[in-house]
Amino acid sequence: FSKSKGRNTYQFYSADMNSKTLRYLEMENALRKSIQNQDFLLHFQPQVDLRTRAVIGFEALVRWRHPELGLVPPDEFIPLAEETGLILLLGDWVLESACRQARAWLDRHTTPLHVAVNLSSRQFWQGDLVDSIASGLTRSGLPAQHLELEITESMVMREADVAIGKMRELADMGVRLSIDDFGTGYSSLAALRQFPIHTLKIDKSFVREVTTNANDAAIAASIVALAHTMNLLVVAEGIEGEEQAAFLLGKGCEIGQGYLFGKPMPSHEAEVMLCGPQS
Ligand code: C2E
Ligand code: MG
Ligand code: MG
Ligand code: MG
Repeated sequence: FSKSKGRNTYQFYSADMNSKTLRYLEMENALRKSIQNQDFLLHFQPQVDLRTRAVIGFEALVRWRHPELGLVPPDEFIPLAEETGLILLLGDWVLESACRQARAWLDRHTTPLHVAVNLSSRQFWQGDLVDSIASGLTRSGLPAQHLELEITESMVMREADVAIGKMRELADMGVRLSIDDFGTGYSSLAALRQFPIHTLKIDKSFVREVTTNANDAAIAASIVALAHTMNLLVVAEGIEGEEQAAFLLGKGCEIGQGYLFGKPMPSHEAEVMLCGPQS
């Protein structure tokens, strides 16, 4: 009796595993096809000067236009793209598309702006990262200083010395570097000090309750102070309300990003934000 129960249990798990594997393979296949067909699009989320509320740039956030599922958010396919290595192809597409869009905006508007592009770990560690970035810039015609690359602490801390070398090469090209989700990983301050970076982005988990939770308030304020000590700019992400914006501005945070100023949106809507409030 117990034997057959055991066998059934085994079969149950086995069937479950198979269906998981199958779904995974289906997703991988669909992702591969979508990369060939370029079934992706970028949404752009404004970053604003917290003092004047002027738009100073946009973060490019990728979406997958899935044939059956509709628009799939990145958290649901970036890990798969990362595991399968498809992220390298996708990442090149994201980079070039974001740079082309920024180039077009610079041609049509006088607003000085940058576009921020997220790098995944595998992209950062690929051998030809610097060449990939350089060729994205060349093909789009975007001057390097209008591109910001977002990396995370966990990506670079694994081998900080090697990472610093790569970051230096990028910085020497004129590209700006920012640390995304800052505060959620474990950076050593000794390493952080050596990073040739431009900006720290306070993770939205600290911003959510920044006006009601004393710990989050203290963390956010410390990050701003730390950044300023190191001559870095600070972006607070996930700002949804005026109270959060006021608190962070009060602490000296220069730049804000969040639903209060605009959700991630298609490029034509983002462009309207460059025309100013009256047009
Ligand atoms: P992230 O880089 O930290 O991007 C910020 C995320 O916070 C975005 O989610 C954005 O929609 C969301 N967000 C912005 N403002 C608010 C707010 O006020 N409230 C709340 N609750 N959320 C807000 P999204 O677009 O779903 O992207 C999720 C993550 O996927 C990104 O986090 C980034 O790590 C990754 N990702 C997005 N695009 C790319 C890409 O092109 N390449 C790579 N490697 N990763 C990407
Ligand atoms: Mg980001
Ligand atoms: Mg490459
Ligand atoms: Mg973030």
